[in-house]
Amino acid sequence: MKFSVLGTKAGGPPILGHNFSATMVWLRQGYVLFDCGEGTQYRLLELGVSINSCRIVCISHFHGDHLWGLMPLLSACCSTQRKTPLTIIAPEGIRAFVEQSAALSGMTFPFSIEFVELRTGFEGIVAVYEDCQITAAMLDHRLDSFGFRVDFPLHFNIDINKLTQYGIEQGAVIGELKSVGHIRHPKTDAIIYLSDVLAHPPCRESFVYCGDTRPCAAEIELAHNATVLVHEATFLHQDEKAAYEKQHSTAKQAAELALQANVAQLWITHISNRYPEPQILLDEARSIFPQTFIAQALRIVEV
Ligand SMILES: [Zn+2]
Ligand SMILES: [Zn+2]
Repeated sequence: MKFSVLGTKAGGPPILGHNFSATMVWLRQGYVLFDCGEGTQYRLLELGVSINSCRIVCISHFHGDHLWGLMPLLSACCSTQRKTPLTIIAPEGIRAFVEQSAALSGMTFPFSIEFVELRTGFEGIVAVYEDCQITAAMLDHRLDSFGFRVDFPLHFNIDINKLTQYGIEQGAVIGELKSVGHIRHPKTDAIIYLSDVLAHPPCRESFVYCGDTRPCAAEIELAHNATVLVHEATFLHQDEKAAYEKQHSTAKQAAELALQANVAQLWITHISNRYPEPQILLDEARSIFPQTFIAQALRIVEV
């Protein structure tokens, strides 16, 4: 699995060198974008990723630091004569927002857009693409805010040594083994099963993105056993009162949630402007959940 957090800054006034929320996860072809803060199209350019390879945009909620980059991104897709369809998954109202903004600015789309609008309280599967399943669940924020989970297909890691022990050349058969589940030995005609040559039991990777929210039961369920959880940590726990009032999480709360959900890795992001040195948020989270990392804008992470 490969992902990149494009912007790590919470809302508020702009700060040079700090980008608003957006995170991308690569699929086999193209990628999914989670949130689209102002300037996201430039972050994609910096990363060397085509805006037209974006297959799905998931908007967690309509606060500007998560949304204001969407229309410029769509406009850029128009300018480059995008043809590939795009799916936009967001709270109810996204279709009106996009269509009215487009109409006011004289924008016509040369590609189709499928809108998946999430009603208040929604929880369930919202898309299946390339055998990946995307699930959404409503979290706890001032506006309706949704977390998203991508479950990738089962991953089979073949042990080449085991294959060699059967006297089989590796290259030709791996694809067939993975797609059919068995092969016939070219000389003896014996059946060799995929399970005979696996390095470890098949695993399913999963990626969870939780934008703005107080810690809540819905996200523990959404993130259960996830490989990666990208979670907001707007505040330090010493500012817990402010976090509660603004319906955000502290670094400590994000770490507790990662622990409860039994995720493999926690990546914290959406850091308030009040902390010029975000290392203190990382230290706070790591004291509870050691496998915590702080998101650095535009870093490509492979897990
Ligand atoms: Zn925000
Ligand atoms: Zn918000």
